[in-house]
Amino acid sequence: MKFIILGCGSSMGVPRADGFFGKCDPNNKKNVRTRCSALLKTNYLNILIDTSPDLRSQLINNKINSIDKVLYSHMHADQTHGINDLRVFFIKNKKPLDIYADNETRKYFNKNFSYCFKSNSSEYPATLNMKAIKKNIFFKKKGEKINIRCIKVKHGSVNSICYIFNKKLAYISDVSKIFQKDYKYFKNLKYLVIDCLWYRNHPSHLNLEKSLELIRAFSPKKAVLTNLHSDLDYKELKSKLRKNITPAYDGLSLVF
Ligand SMILES: [Zn+2]
Repeated sequence: MKFIILGCGSSMGVPRADGFFGKCDPNNKKNVRTRCSALLKTNYLNILIDTSPDLRSQLINNKINSIDKVLYSHMHADQTHGINDLRVFFIKNKKPLDIYADNETRKYFNKNFSYCFKSNSSEYPATLNMKAIKKNIFFKKKGEKINIRCIKVKHGSVNSICYIFNKKLAYISDVSKIFQKDYKYFKNLKYLVIDCLWYRNHPSHLNLEKSLELIRAFSPKKAVLTNLHSDLDYKELKSKLRKNITPAYDGLSLVF
């Protein structure tokens, strides 16, 4: 299986819409970061995690022309507002696309994007089919089995869902705290892809120090830092990290 980081930037992206690169070297392509989303690519399924406002360009740039399922981590705009770009997969699949979300996110969708879920007329039918997150989600196709464990974590004043794929790869782009009772699920990972907003403290995100603390506690084979703000220059950040920890960049692909 292949896990592709489609976007690894914080909420405004790098550069921001006004061209501001912050402390990032504009000449390093790895510093150009779209908003966070990711794709699990198996032999038979493409499973998307979050629909960032940059989704359309992310799919085009990575030549992804089919999506089978979508998992949402939480309802913030930088994880959800690319939802309209999913319409093409309704047209291609000739049926509404299954999306999975927790209670808070489903409420947010019903309030703000109801037209995606309720047919308005035969001209504008519902394009998405909303499903509730369970502790474990299983997908099976042609003998291939995918187990996805869904773990509720804190992200400041809201909750966010961490997804662990086949017990090997954990993805959590927005998190401030993982509950101790869930630490057991993070042992023996091949990859941990984890929030690392910047150097300073932030009430809803991990900073570098806190990300490294969790990486030490879980000791995955490899850790990838994501949701990177423009304070974090790729080369500078990488030089501070141990060999098995790396900053993400858009298009980074992990095989497991
Ligand atoms: Zn968020």
